Amino acid sequence: MDSKSIYDEIFDKPCSVCGEIIKKDIYEQGDCPYCKWKNNHFADINPKAVLYPNLISLNKAKKLYSEGKPFEPDFNEYIEALHNYGEMQFKYNGTYYAVELVYDKNKKLVISLYNSQTKERIIFSNDEDFKNNAQVEDKLLKDIWNDTTDRDWLQ
Ligand SMILES: [Zn+2]
Repeated sequence: MDSKSIYDEIFDKPCSVCGEIIKKDIYEQGDCPYCKWKNNHFADINPKAVLYPNLISLNKAKKLYSEGKPFEPDFNEYIEALHNYGEMQFKYNGTYYAVELVYDKNKKLVISLYNSQTKERIIFSNDEDFKNNAQVEDKLLKDIWNDTTDRDWLQ
């Protein structure tokens, strides 16, 4: 008897972003070796949303692909991704920073920015506060966002 189930089967299907034929499982999951998009069913049916395991939406990925640009999140997409993953990182000028959703003592959800070098932690009361006031090295994060690297979610 063949014990292989449908769930283990791999299909040749087009990548949702670049259209190259890649390997996908029954859940439409498959990392594209050509454009690097992490294909999945939820992104296919929610093309405007930032969803696991990507940091940008499917529509944004298609746009960036057509422009020949890498799949990097802008500052707003990064904050949207933070709400999916809970804990993110970025690197600036050689220092890693962690951005986390945490509960304050009043059980209110706030955003924490942690500097891995100085061990300093700054709390922002909401998305707008973080977007407008978060600083690294005395510079507004929103102004130097394009100079950050290693933006990713943490497990
Ligand atoms: Zn692709």
